[in-house]
Amino acid sequence: MERDLAGLLFPGSVAVVGASGTPGKVGHALFRNVAASFNGPVYAVNPKYKELLGRPCVASVEGLPEPVDLAVVVIPAEQVAGVLKSCGERGIRNVVVISAGFKEAGEEGARRERELVRIAREYDMNLLGPNVLGLISTRVGLNATFAPRGAFPGEIAFMSQSGAFCTSVLDWAWHERLGFSHFVSLGNKAVLTEVEFLSAFGADPQTRVIVAYLEGVSDGEAFIRVASQVTREKPVVVLKAGRAEAGARAVSSHTGTLAGSDRAYQAAFEKCGIIRARNVEELFDYAYALAKQPLPRGRGVGIVTNAGGAGVMATDAVEWEGLEVARFTEDTARRLAECMPKAANIYNPVDILGDARADRYKKAVELVAGDPNVDMVVALSAPVAILTYAELAEILAQARRRFEKPFVCSFMAGELGEEAEGLLRGAGIPSFFDPARAVRTLRVLCDYLEIRRRPRPEPRPLEVDRESVRRLVREAISSARPRLGLEAMEILSAYGIPTARGGLARSPEEAARLAQGLGERVVLKIASPEIPHKSDAGGVLVGVDQRAVEERAAMLLRQIRRKFPGARLEGVYVQEMLPPGREVIVGVLRDPTFGPLVMFGLGGIHVEVLRDVAFSVAPLSRDEAQALVHRIRGFPILKGVRGEPGVDVPGLVEVVERLGRLAADFREIVELDVNPLLCYPDRVVAVDLRLTISGEEG
Ligand code: ADP
Ligand code: MG
Repeated sequence: MERDLAGLLFPGSVAVVGASGTPGKVGHALFRNVAASFNGPVYAVNPKYKELLGRPCVASVEGLPEPVDLAVVVIPAEQVAGVLKSCGERGIRNVVVISAGFKEAGEEGARRERELVRIAREYDMNLLGPNVLGLISTRVGLNATFAPRGAFPGEIAFMSQSGAFCTSVLDWAWHERLGFSHFVSLGNKAVLTEVEFLSAFGADPQTRVIVAYLEGVSDGEAFIRVASQVTREKPVVVLKAGRAEAGARAVSSHTGTLAGSDRAYQAAFEKCGIIRARNVEELFDYAYALAKQPLPRGRGVGIVTNAGGAGVMATDAVEWEGLEVARFTEDTARRLAECMPKAANIYNPVDILGDARADRYKKAVELVAGDPNVDMVVALSAPVAILTYAELAEILAQARRRFEKPFVCSFMAGELGEEAEGLLRGAGIPSFFDPARAVRTLRVLCDYLEIRRRPRPEPRPLEVDRESVRRLVREAISSARPRLGLEAMEILSAYGIPTARGGLARSPEEAARLAQGLGERVVLKIASPEIPHKSDAGGVLVGVDQRAVEERAAMLLRQIRRKFPGARLEGVYVQEMLPPGREVIVGVLRDPTFGPLVMFGLGGIHVEVLRDVAFSVAPLSRDEAQALVHRIRGFPILKGVRGEPGVDVPGLVEVVERLGRLAADFREIVELDVNPLLCYPDRVVAVDLRLTISGEEG
């Protein structure tokens, strides 16, 4: 998995197979870029020429004077396999296949791609592509793309599953003077995927931020493992597109209907500390701020403005983003009062008024930025005739250097601010028209601070009875009964999850016997794999008198038989009657990319309406289980509102943690619902269970 990509990312010599002298051809654009950018030896491979753009050209890979570090292949799809093999024979270990006509182009293409994978494995090659724009490595000055624009050197490593997006980003970033350490088009990801590049960029000292556009992740578990490591070192910002792919699989549980692949991505990103961007604007706002700004020490924001409205907008945004309007020290307040006019607001947000000249702005910014309670600074300004944006940019650039705190800026201006924004960019200060957008980038710096600070998720060992569950799972598989209900409650107790007392009765007489010792009143439930929603079918009798159990059980069986003549009935499940409590749902779902997920939410009959659920990738550490429980909107209800007692949250967290263990231990469990788990102030109890088991593991 962790491959050495040095030869691919920092090659000492490059050959372009399919280099062309005909303008307008991809092979020409690519070779021209390589020849113009790269300092080391460059060779063209094409039988038609002896020389191309002043570089040696050979007829075939065999004819190359040295086994180059990197071969870039841009020839018709059907010839690529042959060339790849020649590269392997020649000892070339890194190959970028630009050519299209593979998996993206139907069955024949998919076959061709499998052939490339086979050859790459045979020769242990780093194969990037096929179907890519290419790659750029600014440290060795290499532009091996056919894009019309190259890249400036910078701190951002970028990878994208869309080649077209790559060209757009290159051109835009050129205009913005935004630089890259590496720029990689991932294409079909036949061999090298986002995982190998994450790992390589993580280890690259030139890279401060990793940015990715992804439409899917190839190996979810490897991705989580590697990304969890990398995000401790440097921020990773991902735009994951293709949310609509959800719902492709058949689901039969609540957990299943409430999931969908985007929830899985959300949970996975959460687990490994990836910062998610919702759109292109966020992707680069965040990337730029994280690349150029120091991390704050806390969430306190100091605001300086010469316009009241801008200050109000920024203050709203601070609250909305969950940051804090910093409270100045007495010293700061006193000194501000000394040097500001009487009408100025010397409390945060500091409004130095529209008649402020550069010197007043400078004093305010320095006092605010120097306050120990201010962790980040937002500088705002509307256009005024007595203060130029260029002066302002200079003040901010200086203050930013002096105070080592994050600065963002909103020149609420158009043309008047343009030139000064260039100066700010040079100082690494993000600047936006909208103050809210400026504040949002500060929030992302705080998000990353939290990610860095949070403890490594280490699931703790739990005492569980694995053998009993293994036996039950095997039985279900061998008897071809994938769906189980209450008769499988033992699975929960084996993993230390408290369950209501009770048991499965095969006959009304047995039900009466089982009911003894369960209290005055009991609950009877029809047990049938074909009736998943028991109460909908009239299959749940609550508060049945101990003495009437036999009769009521017989009646229940009769009624259900009449309603569902074909259904297989296991019998009647007799359960202790519990007092009313808060109903929550905990569940498990196996995601095709990331494996087992645990779901938690407010339960009972309204779960699908409220959709107040959250997901986490199993197994879970105690902290992760706790975070999952806290993440739902309705958490305050569980904590207790308006004098109502709260529920046993630690008990709840432990059930979530144990269910995560179960999900991770038994990949055969593809879906599981505990709905409801009844919650009381001092305990939690499972009263219903439904699960699906699959013979094929994970
Ligand atoms: P289903 O979800 O298949 O309809 P449940 O076993 O979840 O069946 O029961 C439906 C509802 O009945 C639960 O949501 C809960 O409100 C109530 N209930 C179930 N079992 C008990 C019990 N042992 N004590 C008290 N109430 C119960
Ligand atoms: Mg239920």
